[in-house]
Amino acid sequence: AELDEATAALIAQRKALLGPAYRLMYERPLHFVRGEGVWLYDPDGNAYLDAYNNVTSVGHCHPKVVEAIRRQVGILATNTRYLHGAVLDYARRLLATMPSEIGHLMFTCTGSDANDLAVRIAQAHTGGKGIIVTETAYHGITQAVSEFSPSLGENVDLGVHVRTVPAPDSYRSENVAEEFTAAVRAAIGDLRRHGIKPALLICDGIFASDGVFDGPAGFLKRAVDAIREAGGLYIADEVQSGFARTGEAMWGFQRHGVVPDLVTMGKPMGNGFPVAGVAARPEVLADFGAKARYFNTFGGNAVAVAAASAVLDVIEEEGLLENARTIGRHIKEGFQALAGRHACLGDVRGAGLFLGVEIVSDRAGKTPDAAAATRIINGLRDENVLISGCAKAANVLKIRPPLVFTRENADELITKLDLVLQRLS
Ligand code: PMP
Repeated sequence: AELDEATAALIAQRKALLGPAYRLMYERPLHFVRGEGVWLYDPDGNAYLDAYNNVTSVGHCHPKVVEAIRRQVGILATNTRYLHGAVLDYARRLLATMPSEIGHLMFTCTGSDANDLAVRIAQAHTGGKGIIVTETAYHGITQAVSEFSPSLGENVDLGVHVRTVPAPDSYRSENVAEEFTAAVRAAIGDLRRHGIKPALLICDGIFASDGVFDGPAGFLKRAVDAIREAGGLYIADEVQSGFARTGEAMWGFQRHGVVPDLVTMGKPMGNGFPVAGVAARPEVLADFGAKARYFNTFGGNAVAVAAASAVLDVIEEEGLLENARTIGRHIKEGFQALAGRHACLGDVRGAGLFLGVEIVSDRAGKTPDAAAATRIINGLRDENVLISGCAKAANVLKIRPPLVFTRENADELITKLDLVLQRLS
């Protein structure tokens, strides 16, 4: 279908004003003016079912979060070099959701900013520089972090101190734990051969950009042991998998039975208000603390903390961890039933409300079909349902609805995916 005139004009102005580096989603980009719960609305009042946005994870414009922000911004909003009780209350509360070994929380404004800080902390503690990441990982936009975010594409150079390992592809391997550990060990060896001391292994808790790999549970443990034996640290990037998303635990790393050295978080932390952070084992943070003075103007300001604290309230009060588990399971079962009728659904995986559906052109060969995935994503968009894609071969549907998704919302998602798949064949 053609773009309407108003949309085409906005796209042209955006390009003219914001420049060439941005990308919009969908063949026919969307323009939203309002959000509420699981719905986004365009200027004509058409509702779109949001099965993608994990920032607004307790629902768009949740009244409780909106009110907390509104109240606090009318009381105090300063830089963060003054005493304030709320930031301490929040830190205490957030740290209580983590294993007892993790005892400090530092605040940033974005996930990139959190990963940038985590790397500085890890390098200060280990005296090393080497970084190991998965092949199609995304960890953020700063200079340092883009150097270990291979999903940014071939035009962004990885650092000379960065090594990649293949994603833990549970669809194509029966031995994910062994192969992943061996790859991490090989990367450690290669860093050393080049005279680079390993500093860290960083993994997104659900390997979101790599294609959504959630299991088998516990497969990360031996790779974490390997990096520690080499004198490096394990950083759990929970920007995607944190805050109850995976339905089994508050944090993605918990399902792997590991206690990270550093945990980075962001996106859903403030339900749309910028707030992010790094949680750390005290012994790991000590070296950075001794060397650096850290000041992040907006990181953990009173308004950000009010938003973040309201998010934790809502997760608890509305039982969203459990909802992520039960609705996530319902969607997964629905998709698995669709896979019985549509051969292009090669694999359905994920945990809680973070699902990946691998689109293939033939099941026996498990051949990725990026073109079909793109058609499905755009087909759903035309049915007013929002999802996106990921993976090295760009053939995995990425589905991450707000945690307040109901069974009815889930059924609409499943029915519309079925409809789009029927048209495809
Ligand atoms: N880590 C992961 C796993 C992410 O998905 C993202 C954002 N997509 C980031 C870090 C960076 O977060 P931000 O965009 O807030 O800088």
